[in-house]
Amino acid sequence: MWVGDVGVTLVLVRDDGQSVSLGAVIARAGEGTIYEVVGQPEWVAKVFHPGLKDLAAKRAKVAAMVASPPTGAVQADGFVVLTWPRHLVDSGDGAVGYLMSRVDTTNAVEIHTLSNPVDRANPLPTAPQWTPHATWHHLVNAAANLCLAVETVHRVDAVIGDFQERNILVNDTTRVTLVDCDSMQFTDTAGHQFLCGVGRPEFTAPELAGSNLAVTARQKPSDLFALAVHIHLLLMAGNHPFLRGQWTGTGDQPDALTLARSGQWAGGPGSLLHTHPLAPPLDFLPPDIQRLFVRAFTDGATDPNRRPSATEWRTALSTIQVTSCPRGHQIPVEADPCPWCRIDDERSVRRTQRAAFAAPAAPTEQLPPQRVTPIVPGPPAGYPAPPAKRSRTPLIAAGALVAAIALGAGGYALVSGNGDKESTSAAHGSGGGGQSGGQSGSESCDGSVFTGTGSASLSADGLVVSAPTNTGCDGALTGSSVRVVVSDGSRDVAAGYFDLTAHPLAAGGQPVDFVFPAGMYWRTTDTLGSDSLTIDVTGYSRNELSAGGLSRVSATGPADPVHGGIDSTAAAALSELAAADRPYITSNLADRWVPQLSSKRLGLVTDGITYANADILRNHLELRQRYQGARLVLSNDWSTFSGPDWWVTVAGSPSDDAGPAIGWCNAQRIDSWNCLAKMISARRGPDGTTVLNR
Ligand SMILES: [Zn+2]
Repeated sequence: MWVGDVGVTLVLVRDDGQSVSLGAVIARAGEGTIYEVVGQPEWVAKVFHPGLKDLAAKRAKVAAMVASPPTGAVQADGFVVLTWPRHLVDSGDGAVGYLMSRVDTTNAVEIHTLSNPVDRANPLPTAPQWTPHATWHHLVNAAANLCLAVETVHRVDAVIGDFQERNILVNDTTRVTLVDCDSMQFTDTAGHQFLCGVGRPEFTAPELAGSNLAVTARQKPSDLFALAVHIHLLLMAGNHPFLRGQWTGTGDQPDALTLARSGQWAGGPGSLLHTHPLAPPLDFLPPDIQRLFVRAFTDGATDPNRRPSATEWRTALSTIQVTSCPRGHQIPVEADPCPWCRIDDERSVRRTQRAAFAAPAAPTEQLPPQRVTPIVPGPPAGYPAPPAKRSRTPLIAAGALVAAIALGAGGYALVSGNGDKESTSAAHGSGGGGQSGGQSGSESCDGSVFTGTGSASLSADGLVVSAPTNTGCDGALTGSSVRVVVSDGSRDVAAGYFDLTAHPLAAGGQPVDFVFPAGMYWRTTDTLGSDSLTIDVTGYSRNELSAGGLSRVSATGPADPVHGGIDSTAAAALSELAAADRPYITSNLADRWVPQLSSKRLGLVTDGITYANADILRNHLELRQRYQGARLVLSNDWSTFSGPDWWVTVAGSPSDDAGPAIGWCNAQRIDSWNCLAKMISARRGPDGTTVLNR
């Protein structure tokens, strides 16, 4: 179990014979732990968890990738385009992991933060603050740079496969990095194929619909489908071509994959899905770009080889000429009229109509007495303004990325694989959680009762974090205020105080379940990318001469998060939960009635509470624990809510009319004030979409 021995310098040997000393832990991901490399800031090491399922296959895949890195994975100036495995590292007993280039994530965001206009305009307090300053032209640049990254992958026999938003980082100069490269499909020189077993439906090419991805080899054109979706999201104000539009066919709008198979997409030729009234029309784009979308989504629906290559896209994107409309929006020179003006006008018409015809608000949707205005950050120091004239200063020269500006010194952080994008430069490095609080008298216990890592699950009592203990450290654990802090990389998961004076815990090899009630945890299993959490237990003492009893204990009080402030941690957790629930809601709840249990907004005064983010999160998590399948909806995503920024909790099963939702409220014996029937839709206004339980 040397991997758990944090604090001891571990020396591994690179495949070229150089030795590699592991430094601080930067992140713990699902498949392994990411370490700094002492004295070599350009590298990080990913060391696989020893118990990783399919470890042998993973080793073989990484070895094959190391043998054939694509040219351009790291640019001449050191910018990392791909976190491709570059060197195997060996413990003397076979490969235990690999080295990859370290990515500077201090100014990078996942691409959805950039393509979604609401997220772009309102960065989380913990996120880079440059996104509100990004213009449409910057989004075009980011799209072109994404193409370059795809071209780089496709130089070798690799398919990105799980080509989704969380694996794409964009920095404040619009440069793009693809991370989680060891999950890509890769074929070695002998023809042995290592597959990518995962994918998200909204980025899955239609030819893969219904396939078992774990056993299906993908072709490069399936990446080109996802690439076109990403470009559409960037250029078209975050509108997904197969999710958001006006459905003119009979029945409900089919799901994204069904639409993709039939070549029907928002505003596409012959499509029953028309452009959404609050989305830009396809024809505001230059004709070349329009034609590429038609090839990608209409022709490509039945013939994947018709889809434009990354190079074709990049060439077309880099010739877009941008100008400004009289109101200052950025548009292609061909655009007439300005789509952003029309959308602004449409929005203000809708606002006026809502105000004029506003029905009495649902009981839980009262307007707060005062509006909380977010602090507008100042312009970042180094964000480059796009040049006014492309001809003078091309932003994207062929094969080159826009010039990088100098980023903050010492701000290197790492991006790790497996959907678990840690971006911390202040990683919680101590894995030996018990060391600071443990009192050891036994030679068989090397000082740390807890192994420092564990897993979590959600129960009706709260978040249960299971913390393994070391076999040698038996006896009873006591303490009146034992603090347990749980993190997932740089994200706070839970923190609380436990009183063990009346009932000591049993250790010595069996795991301890720490239960955190709502209000003492922030993340649930829905938003944890990793099954290996960092657990820091302090303030206990171990009496090896007496036997402990309990193996499960509930927190008696909250502790502060260690990576962020109370409110910013709660705000980030709310956004993550809503993002994690969004695909489910879009696929299953849209245009249907569901029971609504709560709606809360920052600053809302009700039940004697002025709701802060932490209160909103606690309220939601209490309901989530109690009602299986409860989901978090942000009102901004749907047009049937009468105002923005409401965090709405829904539960139960969706139905085509309000009756079953009201029936569910009654069956659960929730009073009529707190449970009502709500229709969630992006196609209707608020009128007639709320039915109270009377
Ligand atoms: Zn305009």
